[in-house]
Amino acid sequence: MTPWIIFTIGFLLCAVVSADPPNIILIFADDLGYGDLGCYGHPSSLTPNLDRMAANGLRFTDFYTTGAVCSPSRASLLTGRFQTRSGVYPGVFYPSSIGGLPLAEITIAEVLQSHGYATAMAGKWHLGLGLNGLFLPTRQGFQHFLGVPYSHDQGPCRSLICFPPSTPCYGTCDIGETLLPVFIDEMILQQPVNFTELVPVYDKFNEAFIHNSVLKKKPFFLYYASHHTHYPQFASAQYTGRSPRGKYGDALLELDGTVGKLIQTVWDLGIQNNTLFIFTSDNGPETMRKERGGTSGLLKCGKSTTYEGGLREPAMMYWEGKIKPGVTSELASTLDILPTLAALAGAPLSNVTLDGYDLTKLILNGDKSPRNTFYYYPPSIDQNRGINALRLGKYKAHFYTQGAFHSETTPDPDCHVTAPLTEHNPPLLFDLETDPAENYNLLKSGIPKELEPILTQILNERDHFQEGMTYAESETNKGKDPSLRPCCNPDCTPKPSCCHCPVDYVML
Ligand code: MG
Repeated sequence: MTPWIIFTIGFLLCAVVSADPPNIILIFADDLGYGDLGCYGHPSSLTPNLDRMAANGLRFTDFYTTGAVCSPSRASLLTGRFQTRSGVYPGVFYPSSIGGLPLAEITIAEVLQSHGYATAMAGKWHLGLGLNGLFLPTRQGFQHFLGVPYSHDQGPCRSLICFPPSTPCYGTCDIGETLLPVFIDEMILQQPVNFTELVPVYDKFNEAFIHNSVLKKKPFFLYYASHHTHYPQFASAQYTGRSPRGKYGDALLELDGTVGKLIQTVWDLGIQNNTLFIFTSDNGPETMRKERGGTSGLLKCGKSTTYEGGLREPAMMYWEGKIKPGVTSELASTLDILPTLAALAGAPLSNVTLDGYDLTKLILNGDKSPRNTFYYYPPSIDQNRGINALRLGKYKAHFYTQGAFHSETTPDPDCHVTAPLTEHNPPLLFDLETDPAENYNLLKSGIPKELEPILTQILNERDHFQEGMTYAESETNKGKDPSLRPCCNPDCTPKPSCCHCPVDYVML
């Protein structure tokens, strides 16, 4: 059924249906930092709905994503596997990339769809496009898709009309690329995207999908991968100028508004006791954008680094009546979401190697997390170096450090692109409980006797992990083919400027 039909019939429904297994709404922000939300301590962000979700759900203080940039992080989220295993490294996909998340990879959507779930995705994909949409979400278990196949700076800025339309979007985008498209399933709906009207369309799509799934008495999985708060910032008229935090704050407020609408829809349908919300982000803040980028708060550096600011993210899980409200400092990761959701749904897992743990006892019973380690890969993965850092319990060891241009402009020179790749032997060692900002290297003056056992344990853990890792062929290094760039008029010339298909969203 097309989403247009879903839109029309969906809003007619007002039934109260309880389904078992649970409905799942997974919300993934983009380049949102650890310090960006009100509930994580930001003084001027307006995030009332996310703050309410945190207050009524379980808020994580030590939750990690696997990739300090977009594509690898999303690959791990959806597969429960490090990006090394799927080949989504180094770096990210581009509009003309030949590669994509391999179809053989099994996503959360495929696990749940094969168990009877209705599945849909809205927002940013960034796991490949390929010839004739070979790598789009509809090929990876999502029955419906409305969204953009990659980042919204991977196209000319002129398709990023700010509100009001005369307002310039700051900075530079990929001007040589094709105009940004928005897809509905595998068809281009509009090119270039009118971003200032897009999020309300996502909101309608999400609401209609939820209504329609309830109408069909099917459990549902909705993956909403927001463009916010990736640079350049934009927001629709309803949110523009509303936040004291400026353009970044407006974009964040629009994301928060979508969260509020999703919660409201679930409550209106009376399915709140059978619906799990998960919220987190793909990677740390792009501080090079100054006040138009996010912040990692007290954590060190941001996007593209393996300091805490690059990979530790805000995260919360909310399930009315099932998850006890609170805050947990147990270790958890995006890798754990697939096995956790499979367990909650009673869906069988395939026998591929997973890197995640089932967190159901942590979130439902308050038990200890089964995860006691985390492994930090840089965006530029090199098999000979392997991981940059490892966390074991409260200790984190850096074997390599490197700054990044995405983490420019912070006062800390370690974050900047001028901080070269540096090997540390012995590693830098931090106690993340007493020193979450990674300020005080415990091995600065040699190896204290009392730390020798933990250091040995960390080095053994690193060796064990790296011996067990299988590196798939790189998908991002498969090169580019300009003919793969999406175009709503495939036969037009000259490309890419002729790829221009305006659509009035009101028609939807
Ligand atoms: Mg990102």
